[in-house]
Amino acid sequence: MKLTLLGTGSPEAHASRASSGYLIEIDQCKILFDCGGGVFDRLLQAGLLPGDITHLFFSHLHSDHMMDYARLVHAAWDEGAAPLQVFGPPPIAQITQQYFGRDGVLSTDLKARTEQQASIEVWKARGGQVPRPWPAPKITEVDAVFTKQHTDGWRLSSCSVPHAQPQLQCMAFRIDYKGKSIVYSGDAALCEELEQLAHGCDILIHWCYRETGNKSMPTVTEFCPDPQQIAQLATRCGARHLILTHIRKNMDNADAHTRMKNDMALHFNGKVDVAKDLMNIKL
Ligand SMILES: [Zn+2]
Repeated sequence: MKLTLLGTGSPEAHASRASSGYLIEIDQCKILFDCGGGVFDRLLQAGLLPGDITHLFFSHLHSDHMMDYARLVHAAWDEGAAPLQVFGPPPIAQITQQYFGRDGVLSTDLKARTEQQASIEVWKARGGQVPRPWPAPKITEVDAVFTKQHTDGWRLSSCSVPHAQPQLQCMAFRIDYKGKSIVYSGDAALCEELEQLAHGCDILIHWCYRETGNKSMPTVTEFCPDPQQIAQLATRCGARHLILTHIRKNMDNADAHTRMKNDMALHFNGKVDVAKDLMNIKL
């Protein structure tokens, strides 16, 4: 199992951090957690093609977790790849239809690419069959608590996490394979459900939206745990490696990273990291 952090930033435009995206490779399965803006380019920089992605799981449908979704689906389709399997909260089926349906925002492009003679010639020259079907990702809308057992031996499980309810259903994910495990918090507030999901995990990727002691916005303070609180959570879970991600610009300098690592080390004895785009770990 190989983890690559494709996008470790926030909604803020940031030259060195894409928005949220985490790639897990298990043999032929290329599993993506979230697909925020910039993740598509990071995927290419990591040496993969859009059509390599087999499964996409959305933790929630905030824009910074899905802005490259349509680009990924369209580019994989253009490569002639098998339809992407997509799992996410409602209304991901409706959103997909609004992109790729017969009256969707990409319908004029898709009509041109599938009906114009020049496009058909290019498609056939690349080995494609006609008539050319439209993109058709396989969408599964899920409840916040669900599991998926894959025939290759990996298991995906989830829990609900407090974040942007009731407008958005929000989840954290865990993937287990051959005795190793990775947990991705999504954008979670502290909660018992995530503690249980992350029990004994090898890697906990946890979002961090504020430094310790920054209480400038009360609701942010309530819903966004700081590095010390996240480290305490990692200790309670028995995690081995804690990675802070979803890093904002105002936290993205060497001094802030040092403070965050020191804060984590106060409460957690395992390995600690502040995420970087394209950081990868083999398990
Ligand atoms: Zn969010």
